[in-house]
Amino acid sequence: MTILNEILDYNHKFVEDHEYEKYETTKFPNKKMVILTCMDTRLLELLPKALNLGNGDAKIIKDAGALVSHPFGSVMRSILVAVYQLKAQEVLVVGHHDCGMSGMKPEPVIESMKDRGISDETFETLSYSGIDIKQWLQGFENVSESVAHSVDVIKHHPLLPSGVPVHGLVIDPKTGKLDLVVDGYKN
Ligand code: ZN
Repeated sequence: MTILNEILDYNHKFVEDHEYEKYETTKFPNKKMVILTCMDTRLLELLPKALNLGNGDAKIIKDAGALVSHPFGSVMRSILVAVYQLKAQEVLVVGHHDCGMSGMKPEPVIESMKDRGISDETFETLSYSGIDIKQWLQGFENVSESVAHSVDVIKHHPLLPSGVPVHGLVIDPKTGKLDLVVDGYKN
């Protein structure tokens, strides 16, 4: 059975058995916060448990590395929508140790793309179009610095209203222990 069919079969039963009832909530976060974190598999259940979050408690945005790669990209837009439309009052950026984006170099990724059939011509076309693929695929060296940088981009965004605390934390993907990098109440 394919992954998709497995999901669809399970889902049919899930709905039929009213399993959803225990998750019923609204689109407004009970704890009035929006969290930007990483897509890491180890954080799927661990992060909400370690932060005492249940369904409905927070808006959670995930990408590789918990990065705001562009101040007018979709991550920053999601944060602003959470603040202006969904009643989030605080922002948390939660990076983690042993992140796939930590120390990631663009060259091996580009090699993998070529191995999978992406042509040199495609890279040249992108380059002529002003897209710096190497820069785009560059990871970070230090997770605390990366979190602090993301906090800085969010905090100083021209469209973020004043009075919204932006906190920075790093979570251990094994124990769930949080280390505070930026206390948003002090900035
Ligand atoms: Zn990660």
